[in-house]
Amino acid sequence: MKEYIKLNLIFTKVHLLKTDNGFIQFDAGMKQNLKKYLKMLNKLEIDPKEIKLIVVNHAHFDHVSVLKTLKDITNAQILVHENDAEYLRKGISTELKTLSLYSKLFMSTVPKSWKVYEPVEPDIIIKDEYSLQEFGIDAKVIHTPGHTSGTISIITKAGNAFVGCCAHGFPLRLIPGLPKIAQDIDQVLSSWERIIEEGAKTIHISHGKSVSIDKMEKILKKKRRKR
Ligand SMILES: [Zn+2]
Ligand SMILES: [Zn+2]
Repeated sequence: MKEYIKLNLIFTKVHLLKTDNGFIQFDAGMKQNLKKYLKMLNKLEIDPKEIKLIVVNHAHFDHVSVLKTLKDITNAQILVHENDAEYLRKGISTELKTLSLYSKLFMSTVPKSWKVYEPVEPDIIIKDEYSLQEFGIDAKVIHTPGHTSGTISIITKAGNAFVGCCAHGFPLRLIPGLPKIAQDIDQVLSSWERIIEEGAKTIHISHGKSVSIDKMEKILKKKRRKR
């Protein structure tokens, strides 16, 4: 049995990790997805109250605009990196920097009203890394900045890495690879080195299909050679 469940919501994918006493959810997603999300949980026979922790990849609206509602429904604790925590408290999306004309055009289609959301007070604020052992899973959260300065990822002992927007796939780019939106692409490259060092085998991203670590290693090597 897989140690995670992927919820294919519109635009942003959300992941549920099975633990000894329920689930950890990676990202909340968009408020526009709430109905679909609840329907999916129902079909999976998961009671929202079984979700004990929601880990926020970063505070862009597409990952968190439904977070406050989910916190109320699930009673889960919210874990975020200190650099993105303030955005959650204010209910605003972290600044974004587009790296291609296409991503710029894509983002320009997003209505302004989507980028603000109900503020939410995080429960756990981390810096470099955080063990998830106490939540009943052999996994940890690590700081993987670059997309935003507070972007974090979960890596399980089995090698599943939930990296959110440390990589992008469809619809932000055709084939999964480095993000097309990032505050600091050099930081993204360093974060990838860390994800590899931490023993990741399969990468699960928010926008696009999962990829093997070999693929990301190849992309990284090529990019490093160019620099
Ligand atoms: Zn983002
Ligand atoms: Zn995103």
